[in-house]
Amino acid sequence: MQKKYLPSLDTTVSRLGFGAMRMPTIDGEVDKEAVKKMIDTAIAQGLTYFDTAYVYHGQKSEGVLKECLVERYPREAYTLADKIPLWFAKTSEDVARLFEEELERLGVEYIDFLLLHAMNADRWAFAKEVHANEYQLELKKQGKIRYAGFSFHDKPEVLRQMLSEGQWDFVQLQINYFDWDDYAHELYDIATEFGVPIIVMEPIRGGALAALAPDVSAPFRKACPGSTDAEWALRFVASLDNVAVILSGMSNQEQIDQNLATFADIQPLSADEQQAVKEVMDAMRAKPLVPCTGCRYCMDCPFGVDIPKVFRIYNEYQMFNVVERSKKAYAKLVADGNGADKCRNCKACMKHCPQNIEIPARLAEIHELLK
Ligand code: SF4
Ligand code: SF4
Repeated sequence: MQKKYLPSLDTTVSRLGFGAMRMPTIDGEVDKEAVKKMIDTAIAQGLTYFDTAYVYHGQKSEGVLKECLVERYPREAYTLADKIPLWFAKTSEDVARLFEEELERLGVEYIDFLLLHAMNADRWAFAKEVHANEYQLELKKQGKIRYAGFSFHDKPEVLRQMLSEGQWDFVQLQINYFDWDDYAHELYDIATEFGVPIIVMEPIRGGALAALAPDVSAPFRKACPGSTDAEWALRFVASLDNVAVILSGMSNQEQIDQNLATFADIQPLSADEQQAVKEVMDAMRAKPLVPCTGCRYCMDCPFGVDIPKVFRIYNEYQMFNVVERSKKAYAKLVADGNGADKCRNCKACMKHCPQNIEIPARLAEIHELLK
């Protein structure tokens, strides 16, 4: 596993991070035995960065890490990142209560990287009211956290504002080659200008960049016949100097094995390889995708629509050219009462979407296409 020393934090991190938001499940519960095996494999191969959040897996992710990681390894063997959901807080006391609950759920004395979760302009305004960043700095002084940061889903000017107005050790951004020209490049440049290292989330865009349509990914095959699409997406972000850790939401053993193999000796992309990425991006952009990452912040829909699933089926339909399979998957969703036909246009979901997707309008179009 490649490691990276971060001079501004005086610490070393593994370049690959274990995202604990999409762990394997059986009947809706996290499969802890599978997770233990995945964690054992990861640690044996030098992965030390584990990323969770109060809200992941219906608020059970931290408890799973306690059982599968914290209780089985010495504290110095791994680095923990956790996130405070400010949308659950009304006061400064609530913020402190959420943090103490996180320590309790994880069963640790301190958290290494503490983030304010999914920050945007509104949440930053609230964070200032309740002095959330000041609280993070106080926790640092008390030794209850090591570094203060935030994960971010908003426009570049909001990132600049947050970095100017707060005191931050790092920032977590959504960066991948598909979003690079739209906004990710600008976010990267702003964070770099402020001298804060970047933790990357969604490097393969919720899995979408791991399995491209053959016509789309042809430049990758031409440049390197045996390579996988996921490898290209991970190498793209690993080529950026100011990227510290690259998170991957680990869903099964095969994924972690592949990711670990990629990061054993990950190399930056050459100029020719960058050109291949550009060609793939052009081919993908030519397809009308919904920019949904599957984060599920929009859920639950009060009328039962499984919003991210509808968008995933649609994007797969576009990217993979598997028309019959997509229509069958959508028909099942409708039969289960979770299709786009259930949308009542109440717009409740739109307030929560970090990608600012016009959810009801897109749902209506997709229903017409796939019904
Ligand atoms: S707009 Fe549609 S999908 Fe969104 S919450 Fe309302 S009913 Fe659900
Ligand atoms: S529609 Fe928006 S909030 Fe919902 S899963 Fe997709 S990106 Fe996330």
